[in-house]
Amino acid sequence: MNWSISNHESTPDVLLNMESIFAQGNGYLGVRGNFEEGYAEGMSSIRGTYLNAYHDVIDVPYGEKLYAFPSTQQKLVNMIDAQTIRIYLEGEEAPVSLYSGKVISYERYFHMDRGYSERILHWKSAGGKEIKATFRRVVSFVHRELFVIDVRIEPLNFKGQVKIVSTINGNVVNYTNPNDPRVAAGHAKRLTVADYGVRGEYGFVVDETMTSKLQAACVTQHQLDAEGQASLTAEGGVVTYTTTFELNEPVSFTKWNIFTDTLRHGDKLTDRAIELQEALRGKSFEDVLAEQKHYLDDYWKRADIEIGNDAKLQEGIRFNLFHLLQSAGRDEHSNISAKGLTGEGYEGHYFWDTEIYMFPVFLMSQPEIARQLLVYRYSILDQARERAREMGHRRGALFPWRTISGTECSSFFPSGTAQYHISADIAYSYIQYYLAEQDNEFLVAYGAEMLIETARLWMEIGHYHEGAFHLDEVTGPDEYTCLVNNNYYTNVMAKHNLKWAAKSCAILQDYDAAALEALYSRLGVSPQELEDWQNAADAMLLPFDEKLGINPQDDTFLRKAVWDFENTPEDKYPLLLHYHPLTLYRYQVCKQADTVLAHFLLEDEQSMETIRQSYDYYETITTHDSSLSSCIFSIMASKVGYSDKAYSYFNETARLDLDNTHGNTKDGLHLANMGGTWMAIVSGFAGMRLKESGLSLAPSIPASWEQYAFRLTFRGRLIAVQIANGEVALELLEGDRLELALYGKPVELEPGRSVKQPLSSK
Ligand code: BGC
Repeated sequence: MNWSISNHESTPDVLLNMESIFAQGNGYLGVRGNFEEGYAEGMSSIRGTYLNAYHDVIDVPYGEKLYAFPSTQQKLVNMIDAQTIRIYLEGEEAPVSLYSGKVISYERYFHMDRGYSERILHWKSAGGKEIKATFRRVVSFVHRELFVIDVRIEPLNFKGQVKIVSTINGNVVNYTNPNDPRVAAGHAKRLTVADYGVRGEYGFVVDETMTSKLQAACVTQHQLDAEGQASLTAEGGVVTYTTTFELNEPVSFTKWNIFTDTLRHGDKLTDRAIELQEALRGKSFEDVLAEQKHYLDDYWKRADIEIGNDAKLQEGIRFNLFHLLQSAGRDEHSNISAKGLTGEGYEGHYFWDTEIYMFPVFLMSQPEIARQLLVYRYSILDQARERAREMGHRRGALFPWRTISGTECSSFFPSGTAQYHISADIAYSYIQYYLAEQDNEFLVAYGAEMLIETARLWMEIGHYHEGAFHLDEVTGPDEYTCLVNNNYYTNVMAKHNLKWAAKSCAILQDYDAAALEALYSRLGVSPQELEDWQNAADAMLLPFDEKLGINPQDDTFLRKAVWDFENTPEDKYPLLLHYHPLTLYRYQVCKQADTVLAHFLLEDEQSMETIRQSYDYYETITTHDSSLSSCIFSIMASKVGYSDKAYSYFNETARLDLDNTHGNTKDGLHLANMGGTWMAIVSGFAGMRLKESGLSLAPSIPASWEQYAFRLTFRGRLIAVQIANGEVALELLEGDRLELALYGKPVELEPGRSVKQPLSSK
């Protein structure tokens, strides 16, 4: 049940959101859910097709540009549009459309178990001709360059001539909105048509970005399962395929589009795309659907979460898990942008969202994708080193707050570059990967170097004062409090980073001393440096307020006045759209989880009492204006035993985009929140943690649920976890026996034998 999303509306405001919701992708290629036939005059639509990391470089305009402010940034480019298909019935002027003639019925579905979307239109023309048109689309998980559209036309009350016009359009622009900092203000046109034309049965368009000079091509081939007259013409950067045929019985028309780009396919993009088309020859649309289903069967086998008796939440969870899969980059050029490949919000940039919110889902379901996400960060390590030098650090790597190809794209440094914690977040994900997979080879090839270079950063910005190690002038995750000293989150994450830099060297000393020696000499690591990391970690200042019994967010946070929430009208949220940043910085008001998040990621640093008191304190001053917040409050409410709150925060995450609760789903989906939904269940309700001591669970169940179940992929095992009837049941579905902790006590999992225990109240 609940494997399909449906929406049968066609009003403009709903449609813009649906373009994001019905977006399809495979980590490489993403296509928004636009209508093939287009819309009515004047209706707005963000017609978008994106290749992950395919970007242009644009100048950053400044009124006052200070030293080391980035002068350029990258921008994901909306590229060649191959979505358009128009159908004309004999004697009718207007094409088949939801906005002409008469719509007798209209249905729209997104089938998440089978990986395709579908629109079924029963339509009557002005002249009374009735047809049923079914549009189905796939962005293939198996052939990453392939986007295919299949249209089936059924005549209902007439026989006659039909014309189909299909285009590939190279003249595209990006979406802009100068009044919203979360989308681009300018630079709409970033592509020019470099080449286009016809080669045999293929139409092709090649576009080039204006500054980065990256090219992308689309090569298209059309198939009609009826006798028809067809022509393929090219003009003004647009290739047009027209076919005319007699419609006597149902006819299928299939449009096969292959996309290639300079980053992945070298410089002969059209040739390469034609080769890929040739390799698909003989396949039918049904074959593509079958492959898609096969791929998804494996994904859902590992990633699905089932909730027994809540259809709405079930739908939300699957929708989120599906979009995560659609958005994750699978090569060294790409990562997961804040909006995935579903829209242009945040200009296709990658943030810490990946490491802290999305990486865990892949780590425990698709570790090879998780690994690839780490490899992407390694591939930009040199730029992070350069950025650190530019920022005045002699050693180490400072990762950019937002980027595509590796350089800093944030022009507002207080909530951009100053978020140094991103380097510790990346280190954290490397450590989590090690804890999950114990992959020593990966540590040799990538991990140790990343941990060393990020640890060095803290030694550069940190200093000792009265015996404690301080980190000054940074911004934590909460963007309503910027440029502070000793942000608890940053300090505790840096501490972990420093400790693990030293630890990874010790692990390698045992595993492969020669490789470690080589790394030391390449990076110039001395034994003294290892000692310095350990000492700084041990001496790291973790601010604590005796009176409140909480960790202050930073040195001065608790001295500030509390924001006047009572007199802030509802329509002033999110605050960032209504108040100058300085106004926000002066008050105790949090955009999102900060210290509370640190208490989740590194819970053993504080007592349960401090964690609970901090939760109580920060909850009252957090607006959750960022979609990265509610999931963390849900997890921590579960931890401290506030089960009702855990459930209500969870409810805010599960359907955030489906219900457009943040009001900007049209600009793309909130991918971090989607990962957060998974975490709120697996790490929140089920209490999963991954630490040096191993994997542990401490499940509870929301009062209104009868049961829930999920799976974990861990060190080659597949573990089924089910919480039902007051019991936790664990079963090893794949792999050898394994020990894990349940409510702090070891349990042995053996193949074919399930372990059951009563639920324990925490
Ligand atoms: C949040 C950041 C986040 C960014 C991209 C901002 O609103 O405050 O934490 O990284 O959105 O999702």
